[in-house]
Amino acid sequence: MHCSQCGAEVPDYATFCSNCGATLKPVDAFAKTVGRVTKSALDTTARALDRAAKGVSPAIERAGRAVRPAADETVRAAKEVAKAAKPVVETTVRVTKETAEKVVKAAKPAVEKAAAVTEEAARKVKERARKR
Ligand SMILES: [Zn+2]
Repeated sequence: MHCSQCGAEVPDYATFCSNCGATLKPVDAFAKTVGRVTKSALDTTARALDRAAKGVSPAIERAGRAVRPAADETVRAAKEVAKAAKPVVETTVRVTKETAEKVVKAAKPAVEKAAAVTEEAARKVKERARKR
C-alpha cells in the first residue's frame, strides 16, 4: 500500500510510514485486502458459471438441429437446473461475505494492539525525520 501522507510504498500491514513516520491504519489495509480477496473469489465464481453456460449453449444448439423436441426438453431441463442452482450460488456469496466480515472483526483487536505497540517506534521515526 502507499502512505496516505507522503505516498511512499510501504508494506501492506505497516503501522507507520518508514519514510515520513505517519501513523497508518493497518485495520483499513487489512479490510481492504480481505475485500479484494473476496471480490476476486466472487469474480472467479461468476466467470466459471459464465463459461459453463457458454459451454452448454452450443451443445444445445447442435442437439436442436438434430432433434428439435429433445432440444426443447434440454433447454427446459437446463433452465430448471439454473433455477435450482441460484439459491446455492446466492448462499455461497452471502456466506463468503459474512466470513470476510468475521475475519476482519476477529483480527481487528490483534491488528490494533500491534499498531499500539509500534506507535513508539513510529514516534522515533518521526523524530528522525524532523532532525533530517
Ligand atoms: Zn509517508
